[in-house]
Amino acid sequence: MEAWMEQLQESVDTLDRLKTMINVTAEEEYAIAALKTRWGSTPYFVSLMDRDDPGCPIRKQVIPSLKEKENVHGIPNYLIWKENRDTEEIRPDSIARQYNDRIAFTVTDMCANYCRHCFRKELVVDRDLKLRMDVEEGLRWIREHEEIRDVLITGGDPFILSDDKIDYLIRKLREIPHIEMIRFGTRTPIVLPQRITTGLQRVLEGFHRVPIWVNTQCNHPKEITEETARAVYDLLRCGVNVGNQAVLLKGINDDVQTFKALHQKLLSIRIRPYYVFYCEPAPGIDHFRTPVEKGAELIRDAIRGHTTGLAQPMYVIATNIGKIPLMPDYYIVDKDEKEYTLRNYQGKLTRMPNIQE
Ligand SMILES: *Cc1c(COP(=O)(O)O)cnc(C)c1O
Ligand code: SF4
Repeated sequence: MEAWMEQLQESVDTLDRLKTMINVTAEEEYAIAALKTRWGSTPYFVSLMDRDDPGCPIRKQVIPSLKEKENVHGIPNYLIWKENRDTEEIRPDSIARQYNDRIAFTVTDMCANYCRHCFRKELVVDRDLKLRMDVEEGLRWIREHEEIRDVLITGGDPFILSDDKIDYLIRKLREIPHIEMIRFGTRTPIVLPQRITTGLQRVLEGFHRVPIWVNTQCNHPKEITEETARAVYDLLRCGVNVGNQAVLLKGINDDVQTFKALHQKLLSIRIRPYYVFYCEPAPGIDHFRTPVEKGAELIRDAIRGHTTGLAQPMYVIATNIGKIPLMPDYYIVDKDEKEYTLRNYQGKLTRMPNIQE
């Protein structure tokens, strides 16, 4: 059996298994027993946890917490609202649409790691929302909608599917003349780097009319290892670009030092930061949420001007009407007919002529 399948088969998803790998606290033990939820991760990702510290950023993303029950701000039926599933346009369950030219195509509800902060928690983690993930129905819809040029394959985690299934999806999408690009959203380079096998590389590699892009999710520098670096390099060798979509998580990556280290370390293993998401108001994840301004402040204080420009992600909030940028708004201090006054990351001022239209 391939190493990645073994990782999934030996998934750490019971208290007994977890206890063989870390020193579980009474509070963690109680939460695991009390919550009706799917949880767990690969032995590989669990091995990156601190054995003794319950504040470990990887532990907090993986082990259920009683705080998940303290839902004050979470929007009920969040995913239905967020993914515009409650609109006039009839679409298969597998298709989420917020834009004219691109869609998110949900092909599985399985993941290698069940992130506690997942915005798809209702579908993927708590599983009180059931959707039909019929690939054929989704492909048919895409074929019939000629305005769709970009398909974002998501889940769950689509790289949990077999090589054959991934190959089938790519081939079928490439047969559609209006499809210009295919994207995969997968956390496997971080939580299951063993997944980037030579078999999968064969499926992904090559020069094609329709390129493949991968976006992964890495939230803390501790998640980046030699194995991940190798997996990313192998993807790049196949002609697949690798970006990152981090989630801003309270107590995990919302301080200047961690935020900067995360983005620098991503670049050091050739992952280009793409988005940092504000943690969405899905039910049961209030405890991960910061004030909205936090991400913009971190970009101002940790990234822009402080490190390589390539390390800079776009800070956005994903909403039911699409992603909305929440970048720092300190740049333009003043403006008159003649000139703009601009401020840099250190608070220094400069002027630029105002060219009127
Ligand atoms: C995030 C998302 C996309 C892709 O957005 P980009 O800004 O192009 O990365 C497309 N459709 C849906 C429904 C999404 O949630
Ligand atoms: S990998 Fe993505 S879809 Fe799966 S639990 Fe984590 S955030 Fe949710």
